[in-house]
Amino acid sequence: MIIVMQSKATDAQVEAVQHRIRDLGLKPHLSRGEFRTIIGAIGDESLMRAELFAALDGVESVMPIMRPYKLASRDFHAEDTVLDVGGLKIGGPTITVVAGPCSIESEAQFRETALAVRKAGAAMLRGGAFKPRTSPYSFQGLGEEGLKILQAVGREVALATVTEVMDVRELEAVSRYADVIQVGARNMQNFRLLTEVGHLRKPVFLKRSPAATIEEFLMSAEYILSEGNRQVILCERGIRGFDNSTRYTLDLSAVPNIQKVSHLPIFVDPSHATGRRELVVPMALAAVAAGAQGVMVEVHPHPDKAMSDGPQQLTPDAFALMMRELAPIAQAVGRQLQKPK
Ligand code: PEP
Ligand code: MN
Repeated sequence: MIIVMQSKATDAQVEAVQHRIRDLGLKPHLSRGEFRTIIGAIGDESLMRAELFAALDGVESVMPIMRPYKLASRDFHAEDTVLDVGGLKIGGPTITVVAGPCSIESEAQFRETALAVRKAGAAMLRGGAFKPRTSPYSFQGLGEEGLKILQAVGREVALATVTEVMDVRELEAVSRYADVIQVGARNMQNFRLLTEVGHLRKPVFLKRSPAATIEEFLMSAEYILSEGNRQVILCERGIRGFDNSTRYTLDLSAVPNIQKVSHLPIFVDPSHATGRRELVVPMALAAVAAGAQGVMVEVHPHPDKAMSDGPQQLTPDAFALMMRELAPIAQAVGRQLQKPK
């Protein structure tokens, strides 16, 4: 249920409504928009009766939120959410490009990639240290050593960093070394992990599971939001279809589809979605044309030698070309590529 406050409601009136919500054993979530304050009452819906709030001073209206996701919904927060990641504005009118290798393989490999993507204009740096591999015999990532490289190189090139956490046991280390914590496609419904990242006050990059509906995807975001962490970035990265000529099937319609119902920023990862280098750039351009607030792209100095996801990683030259092609597309949809801080 959401309680819409009158535009002239005082802080004391807002507090009184939150107090009543807590008294009922529910959780209040405050959303202060430019024009009005909305208070979400989240919890057992059988306890929520509009008349318990409608008569309180300063209340304009009380409405149920019909969708199963509440805090992720535009009913709760009408304007687009804009996150601040070390001065970068994510989710506003800018397009944020996140680039870097699939895996951090060595300090030299990561530094070479980081310098190249920064020069080409990427605003954020990615690199996996804990890798979710289909085979237990494949390279699993450098673990904490990889996190240290991520942080050191990120600082050196002055780019905010993002890396994946796969398990609650690794969360403390990942959140210590990285600026943004990625929850990958395979863990999108690891509800314990979502709850734990919800306790942090750090941005979370949540990727859609290849088998998740849009509603399930937003319910996963809701897990994080309901624990009080409002900093969630969504990422479409392809869903499982029947055509095996691409790795997954990129659901580009997810972008406007999600933007209609949710205020959270939505990115697109064309690298994992297609699995094929030659398809990555066209799909990155299409993602921006479709209104995505960012793209995540894998880049490797020598993709043929990569320890994971070689076929989909762009060379630094191909990435630089992609950045040049993205700029006019961004402009055509009234956006601009975000410059690194
Ligand atoms: C990744 O971004 O490194 C990754 C493994 O992606 P996904 O979880 O989308 O497969
Ligand atoms: Mn990868």
